[in-house]
Amino acid sequence: MLKIKTVLSTLTAITLLLPIQQLSVKANPTSSENSTSTQQTTDTEQPKNIYSQAKEELPEDLYALYRILERIVRANKLDDKPWRILIIPEYNINAFATNVNLIALYNGILDQAAGDASAIACLVGHEIAHHTEKHIALAPVEKAALIAKIRQDAEEEVLAEKQDAQAEATGLSVGGSAARIFGGRTGRVGAAILDNVIRQRLKEAHKRIDEIVAQKKEELEETLAEESRNREFEADEIGYLYSAKAGFEAEGCLRMMKVLGQTPSAEFDTTHPAVPKRIEALKDLMVKFPAKSLAEEGKALISQTQPLTYDLSKDGKSLRVNSSRGGSSANDVERLFDN
Ligand SMILES: [Zn+2]
Repeated sequence: MLKIKTVLSTLTAITLLLPIQQLSVKANPTSSENSTSTQQTTDTEQPKNIYSQAKEELPEDLYALYRILERIVRANKLDDKPWRILIIPEYNINAFATNVNLIALYNGILDQAAGDASAIACLVGHEIAHHTEKHIALAPVEKAALIAKIRQDAEEEVLAEKQDAQAEATGLSVGGSAARIFGGRTGRVGAAILDNVIRQRLKEAHKRIDEIVAQKKEELEETLAEESRNREFEADEIGYLYSAKAGFEAEGCLRMMKVLGQTPSAEFDTTHPAVPKRIEALKDLMVKFPAKSLAEEGKALISQTQPLTYDLSKDGKSLRVNSSRGGSSANDVERLFDN
């Protein structure tokens, strides 16, 4: 338990999805380990049996999310790596993508979209898009680099002032010499005045650096918010393509937007575009890429693949939807070398 806690320290606010023992026991009744694959028991069975098993052992919302995500990744050739799904038991009308391949949805949004698999599929597609387009990995790195550059630029801008102050420092040493040469009160007073002037100049230079950094940081925040809004449009667009290829109803995306539009913060959050604009962009996209032809493309890809298995993730609380290779490295090594 302690080990699980350590692994999950980056997601401290998130409480457990469901009792860990419950899922691990159900996922593989003969194993004492949490993450033994279901692949072994399902390899020889008909594909629909994986789904029946999932329906039996997963809580309803998680089962729905597994089916939705599993279909989206197969229809879009995204099944070459595993994905993770987490339901956060909090009544928020939101979802997010984080930690390499994790799709997290709050209870609140599942409740608001209850009975609408296509709306949920569109949201899952949107969060997958944040991963596939590397929206998450890039942003913090970019921001840190930009802030460092701002400080560097500001320092260069006030370098001239620093150099002036340096010149004063030379004056101080002259003053110091004067004090030594001539001795007495005059020399000491002159040196003290110069010292004060230099300190004042340096103080002003630092103040100016701080002012420039603060102003440029503000401009940067605005640029990043703009960039974030563009990324949301991009994730909406790709999310629609992903879910439509998987055969879900295009209108599900519009219905999900209406759910998001109900949240008081949605209109004012600077990092997200206003919901009516997102709906408008989606409608344009639906004309440009009709859902029907996308679904046909996806159907062909799905028919060439097998249903994906699942396990409790090694993070101890999310559901890992395995890649097309299954969830057991042990099985895979035995498949390659049988003796
Ligand atoms: Zn988003």
